Amino acid sequence: MIKINHRKRDPIQLLQMLPMSKVIKGIYAYKLNPMAHSHQIVIIGGGNAGISVAAKLLRKNKSLDIAIIDPAKYHYYQPAWTLVGSGVFDIRKTQRLEASVIPSGVKWIQEKVKSFSPEQKFISLDNGEQVSYQFLIVAAGIQLNWDEVKGLKETLGKNNVCSNFSFEHAPYTFECIKNLQSGTAIFHNPHTPVKCGGAPHKIMYMAADFFRKKGRLNKINIQYWSGAAKLFAVPVLKKRC
Ligand SMILES: Cc1cc2nc3c(=O)[nH]c(=O)nc-3n(C[C@H](O)[C@H](O)[C@H](O)COP(=O)(O)OP(=O)(O)OC[C@H]3O[C@@H](n4cnc5c(N)ncnc54)[C@H](O)[C@@H]3O)c2cc1C
Repeated sequence: MIKINHRKRDPIQLLQMLPMSKVIKGIYAYKLNPMAHSHQIVIIGGGNAGISVAAKLLRKNKSLDIAIIDPAKYHYYQPAWTLVGSGVFDIRKTQRLEASVIPSGVKWIQEKVKSFSPEQKFISLDNGEQVSYQFLIVAAGIQLNWDEVKGLKETLGKNNVCSNFSFEHAPYTFECIKNLQSGTAIFHNPHTPVKCGGAPHKIMYMAADFFRKKGRLNKINIQYWSGAAKLFAVPVLKKRC
């Protein structure tokens, strides 16, 4: 969770409100943690978005001073998880060391961003350090809230309940598809924004193709349950459905 310090406070007033022990401790902490880094462009998140933006900016101007902040050890190529769930791609190939995908010439700060201070143009890291910037790009991805669906977290990855939306679970999708000889296969798209609106569709088509190749298509009832208002988000396709 990233917090935004949006309230402007007079520092003198703030000091007067605190007990003296905290003031001394605060001054001490400030001396220990001065502005540790300063960069022209700071990008939060070294996923596909963060690294692509950094690479594109550098292609335009090699002399830019860019830092990417991301605590992750690994980078994941998530679009391939559909293919993993369909049994045609190796999950291990979707994981790379984050260090290996940071564009050369970009500084990687391997820390988590804890809070923003937009008016002062700096961000604070989990380790207490601060990073100032001229331009800030936020590309921290979206959070998976499995808990939003009652009981999902407890059953995910077993009991024939699978998801392509995580590295841990995508291989189990193919287990489920492979083992289903007959019955009902439900593909589901939640009402909330997801990383790829087409992903629930794509795995359904790939599964249907697998069932067809194995001669099981007429024994399996394929259903698509969607919380979205329309089947397709792209306007030209929306009109046809
Ligand atoms: C199954 C599936 C299929 C898909 N298929 C397609 C497709 O066919 N075509 C397509 O275009 N897209 C597809 N996508 C979507 C695409 O993969 C994502 O949109 C893309 O990977 C998101 O990249 P991102 O950089 O925004 O986020 P992420 O890759 O999630 O990266 C976010 C990064 O931010 C870091 N971070 C988070 N919080 C902090 C913090 N506080 N401080 C510092 N760093 C932080 C994380 O560690 C992470 O490395 C698919 C996604 C899935 C799951």
